[in-house]
Amino acid sequence: MLDILRSIIQEVNGARDLAATLSIIVRRVQEAMNTRVCSIYLLDKNLGRYVLMATKGLDPAAVGRASLAPEEGLVGFVAQRAEPLNLDNARSHPRYLYIPETREEEFESFLGVPIIHHGVVLGVLVVQQSEQRTFDSDAEALLFTLAAQLAVAIANAEARGAVVGLSPTGMRTADPSFDGVPGAPGVAIAKAFTVFPPADLSAIPKRPCSDIAAEIVFFNECLDAVRNDIRELKVKIKDRLRPEEHELFDAYLHMLSDNALGNEVVACIKEGSWAQGALAQVGLSYVRNLEQIEDAYLRERATDIKDLCGRVLFYLQQKQPQTMRYPERCILVSEELTAAMLAEVPRERLVGVVSAKGSAHAHVAILARAMGLPAVMGVSDLPFSELDGQELILDGYNGKVYSNPSEALRGRYQEIVREEVELSEGLEAIKELPCVTRDGHRVQLWVNTGLMTDVLRSRERGAEGIGLFRTEVPFLLRERFPTEREQASIYREQLEAFHPKRVTMRTLDIGGDKPLPYFPIKEDNPFLGWRGIRVSMDHPELFLGQVRAMIRASEGLDNLQILLPMVSNVHEIDTSVQLIRRAHQELVEDGHRVMLPPLGVMIEVPSMAWQVDAVTRRVDFVSVGSNDLTQYMLAVDRNNPRVTNLFSTLHPGVLRVLAQIAKDVRGAGKSLSICGEMAGNPAAAMLLLAMGFEILSMNATNLLKVKSVIRDMTLAQAKLMLERALAAESTEEVKALLDQALYEAGVGRLLRASRTS
Ligand code: PEP
Ligand code: MG
Repeated sequence: MLDILRSIIQEVNGARDLAATLSIIVRRVQEAMNTRVCSIYLLDKNLGRYVLMATKGLDPAAVGRASLAPEEGLVGFVAQRAEPLNLDNARSHPRYLYIPETREEEFESFLGVPIIHHGVVLGVLVVQQSEQRTFDSDAEALLFTLAAQLAVAIANAEARGAVVGLSPTGMRTADPSFDGVPGAPGVAIAKAFTVFPPADLSAIPKRPCSDIAAEIVFFNECLDAVRNDIRELKVKIKDRLRPEEHELFDAYLHMLSDNALGNEVVACIKEGSWAQGALAQVGLSYVRNLEQIEDAYLRERATDIKDLCGRVLFYLQQKQPQTMRYPERCILVSEELTAAMLAEVPRERLVGVVSAKGSAHAHVAILARAMGLPAVMGVSDLPFSELDGQELILDGYNGKVYSNPSEALRGRYQEIVREEVELSEGLEAIKELPCVTRDGHRVQLWVNTGLMTDVLRSRERGAEGIGLFRTEVPFLLRERFPTEREQASIYREQLEAFHPKRVTMRTLDIGGDKPLPYFPIKEDNPFLGWRGIRVSMDHPELFLGQVRAMIRASEGLDNLQILLPMVSNVHEIDTSVQLIRRAHQELVEDGHRVMLPPLGVMIEVPSMAWQVDAVTRRVDFVSVGSNDLTQYMLAVDRNNPRVTNLFSTLHPGVLRVLAQIAKDVRGAGKSLSICGEMAGNPAAAMLLLAMGFEILSMNATNLLKVKSVIRDMTLAQAKLMLERALAAESTEEVKALLDQALYEAGVGRLLRASRTS
């Protein structure tokens, strides 16, 4: 059975389109199972019926014409129940129905399995026999496995629009959509431009070389050509990023350098291999080693190596620079998008990025955020190779990608894009105005930053401070730990750029999904493992070096405050306080005129929500990390697209805990802020304001939208929204009542940005 299955799947994989796939399946299954009939029925959503789309054994003229309603016949029964049905005496089943237009014989045996994709029944795969026959479990398993294959083929065909015209109405059956995780906020509609690593390393055969010296010269020429390309990319991206953020490209150059990959390839050529073979051997061994490592960040390094080796290979094979023709406006799509691929596209042509692999912390997502480009990451089901030239809608708020959208969906999103453009133009006017409700309640809007590029965008939008500088971002872009001096200069820039406004620097929050390439952490359960303050506690030298760099950078500016991530026990705060005091003391002894900065703790581990009294006794302020708090409260991995629908900061349980934290922190007389994505959701911002949060810190993209809603509403309205939300029983109920409240308040146009959580 396994052999048959393998050979059918092989044939299906070679099918040119969906119609061919369907006809291969019915023909091969009918043959293999020796049945009278094999048919496929697919749901036409416009008709609301299961239409016969392919058959072997029934009248071919009935294809596209014969159909069954969900409540009709055994086919409808299988679809309704979404379960297989195996009958050796079909005629005695109450749902048995004879369809005359198929000219089927009265049949006795029936085996039908549902074709299901992402929990949705797309159709039914059926075999029938005139005489009584019991289909054994092998037969059932074969059909079941093929139905699963078929589901993917149908979903992919839908994604590239190939299903249109197959159904009797000739209309599309759905808007194919794919779930990923939000990489950067915003919406884009444009044609997909799919990019691949330039050449396939694994396809290179082993060959000897006749002239080793000439081969080495040739290889070095090609290597130089790629180095030049990378240098050019670095220049190209210069106006999009700050010079000090170009380190990523230096890292690429380093990988190619003589003492890294380049050297090993040359050694291999010296042993007699031709250059392409040597490159493939060395490159693939790097890739294999990196891919075996569990942590996501290092696996992404394998992508960089593949990309770079592919570029060298291209020169070895073609010896000509590669030129791409990017459409006027495109969404860049790839299996594993790299920062180099992004840098290659002229900025004015690029409207968004989608990657089938990679998390919100991949380099490319960090760059997209800094550049204000919407991004969706980790879209694991994305048929990226089928999408080139297809129209896509990218929803960076919700981590969703739609391909080949219907008029209706495109219209809806065009409206959103138009509103966003209008809004951002209209919002310019409120940039310098205070963030105050109509009834005079003042809140402050701060920003979250990582790169200097973020800082500049944030200042332009009138941010009142930095509520979270994720210090791990500059660490992530490097090949080694930055020295204390290098750190001090990075920190000084942020402090200067916002002076005299306050800048909150979080100590290193690595681990979880943010391991450093040069500090690998291999764990089965990284989100519950060695991350954030836990790493700092075990490496006081790292922590001390970092806080010394921060405090030193604040000399003469005095606008620094320090924030501790992932605290789950008060002793972590006590030890940190001692180390920070020591760092300060050492600097003072060295003659620096520096202040001891205010200290804050992030509440993002649920246990701390119930120990606010103990926390506030020890620190000056509290900042809630709603991303992790929600992840840990709801037991939902924030980076897993499969459970993304379960992740919501508007879950009533989360809201109640947030309200409790706010009450306790305010009761203790300490300053309270929030720096998770929730703060950038205008509707959620109203709830937070009503709870008593004084500072909302968010991605710069959302800042003016949040300000606009707050300025258009009253604290009294916000309190009413909160009262209702806290009484709700489900996330959906909370979302519905927030939507309604915003519409009633006349700020419904800003709802889009509020659909981020
Ligand atoms: C959070 O967890 O809400 C937060 C702001 O930190 P990060 O997203 O960097 O984990
Ligand atoms: Mg966090």
